[in-house]
Amino acid sequence: MMHGGGLMGGRKREKPSGRVPNRQLVRQTAALFKGHRAGVATIAFLVIITAGAGVVNPVLIAVVFDAALFPTRAGVLLPVNLPLLEILVAIMIGITIVTGAIGVLQTYVTNRVGQRVMEELRNRLYEHLQGMSLRFFTGTRTGEIQSRLTNDVGGIQSVVTDTATSLLSNIVTLLSTLIAMLFLSWQLTALSLGITPLFIFYTYRAGKVRRQITMQAQESKAEISAITEETLSVSGMLLAKVFGRGSDEVVRFRKENHRLANLAIRQEMIGRALFAVIGAFFSSAPALVYLIAGFVIAGSHGPHAPIQYGTIVAFTTLQSRLFFPIGSMLSVSIEIQASLALFERIFDYLKMPHDIVDRPDARPVAANDIKGDVQLKNVYFRYDRGSFGPMTEPIQRPAPTVVIPNGDAPDENDPVPNEIRRDWAIEDVNFEVKPGQLAAIVGPSGAGKTTISYLIPRLYDVTKGAVLLDGMDVRDYTIASLADAISMVTQETYLFHASVRRNLMYAKPDATQEELEAAARAAFIHDRIVALDEGYDTLVGERGYRMSGGEKQRLAIARVVLKAPRVLILDEATSALDTTSERLVQAALEPLLTGRTTIAIAHRLSTILAADVIFVIDRGRLLEQGTHAELLRRGGAYAQVYEQQFQGGRIEAVCEDGMVLASGEVVAGTPAAPAA
Ligand code: ADP
Repeated sequence: MMHGGGLMGGRKREKPSGRVPNRQLVRQTAALFKGHRAGVATIAFLVIITAGAGVVNPVLIAVVFDAALFPTRAGVLLPVNLPLLEILVAIMIGITIVTGAIGVLQTYVTNRVGQRVMEELRNRLYEHLQGMSLRFFTGTRTGEIQSRLTNDVGGIQSVVTDTATSLLSNIVTLLSTLIAMLFLSWQLTALSLGITPLFIFYTYRAGKVRRQITMQAQESKAEISAITEETLSVSGMLLAKVFGRGSDEVVRFRKENHRLANLAIRQEMIGRALFAVIGAFFSSAPALVYLIAGFVIAGSHGPHAPIQYGTIVAFTTLQSRLFFPIGSMLSVSIEIQASLALFERIFDYLKMPHDIVDRPDARPVAANDIKGDVQLKNVYFRYDRGSFGPMTEPIQRPAPTVVIPNGDAPDENDPVPNEIRRDWAIEDVNFEVKPGQLAAIVGPSGAGKTTISYLIPRLYDVTKGAVLLDGMDVRDYTIASLADAISMVTQETYLFHASVRRNLMYAKPDATQEELEAAARAAFIHDRIVALDEGYDTLVGERGYRMSGGEKQRLAIARVVLKAPRVLILDEATSALDTTSERLVQAALEPLLTGRTTIAIAHRLSTILAADVIFVIDRGRLLEQGTHAELLRRGGAYAQVYEQQFQGGRIEAVCEDGMVLASGEVVAGTPAAPAA
């Protein structure tokens, strides 16, 4: 009750900014309870019973006084009516016990319904998020998603279990109390109702001010932590010292700190004042009842007192049943308003469309018959917010004429940095990789290599054109079967915090131990696994055993060997491995490439040399294609790249940070790995 009104002030702030009409939101929220109608009805029934029964005892007090303790006849006091008193007391105790028991039952039913609704909501949300495309996840902070799934759903839990029932209970308490009061004495009821607006006014006002101060204090706290974070970090400290601004920072801090301290004092004082006001109401209200009763009695002329003793006693009890629900409702309405904002955040997610879904007539990829011919036909692709935001029409720009030499370091001769905003991430790309071929995609950082690799297994859908698998648009296949046919080895190997076995079996849940070991052997990682403390049962991943870069890559390769996809997309890691690891990874890769179509984002010279076809990509466009020898002979972009990045074959690979990884002399044209 105390802070109830306090939140009131924030009502305007928290009100959803008219985007979703509240009524719709309420309807959506109510729809969550559709499957629980019986439960909700039971709860409502029990709440009405308990709240209504609460008024019986105060009314009985009047009867106890006037009929049992001090019975009168014609104004003459009679002896105590013991048999009646016993019955009344038994009823009073009985009612307390019964309402207590009903209260427990009500809590159980409420929690059951509430928790089931939460459970269903979390499931729905998780399932929905699982179906979202990569586009959504690249555009949303992980913390945000997690927070909606846990905090927001958790935040509305109390509204579902407590707030709604408390609202109903308050209404019933209020109404039943009013009826009982009117039944006992209209004059005293008028008194109670007369002072109620004053009570509401004070709680509301004090609460509003308190809310404002709380907001200001929150801002001030945020400001202080921003100052601390900015200035007490190593870089901030360095900056302040280098520029001799330390004392200015101290002044800034002192000022904000002083403001916070003052706010805290005001906050505390308003809370205390509100408490005093409420306390005064609760204790002076009975006193006023006596006073008014006195006036009424004094002003009456007749044999019977117009207000009996019992009524006066009962009234003092009933009055608190009037103020309490009012104060509580002030706060509950705010809680509901705040929860609606949380519901809105959850529904926002649930309403987001899935942009990559099976077409109605999608067919499964025939796993056994698939040859693995991959073709890009006039493919255009643009990263935009897709269905998560507005899409703007691109401005047509001429194709780039300047080629940035390969290598991931920017070139100062180039007038347009490669990362500059361009209309299309991929623009009119056409190529075909024949079944069983090894294709290498090369090009500078930001050229669009990764993007192309995402389009093939439909992690993203092309904006224009089509990606064909065995001559059929990948969008005509079912996504699940496409995932079976196409596999990807990404640069970074993601391992779950689970055993090696579970990490491997992710690729093939029904794999036998023999299959696991065979795959691990093929990837040259079996010996390493058995050497671990618990072999295949060793925990790896986030908090488990930390595998080295090369080991992780080989595990990733073993995963793909297990899955045996028809088409493999390989994003070669650019992180430096030592020569031995590099060789092991290379050796693990070789058998993987044979017999399947492989599209490699190539960083290793050996892969490039082994490729049946090389695609040179720059700024989203395909510049050249051909074998290593053909492209060298042509003396175009590729020849330049080859000379710069691999120094004509004398260097094996250049890492992202420009560090050169020498792996001995590699003679141009001599594949270091056999062609697939
Ligand atoms: P590469 O793999 O050749 O280094 P990418 O395919 O990652 O290049 O990127 C191609 C272009 O698309 C770059 O300009 C990059 O900035 C842009 N890009 C990549 N991912 C996204 C994304 N999620 N959202 C928007 N733009 C992106």
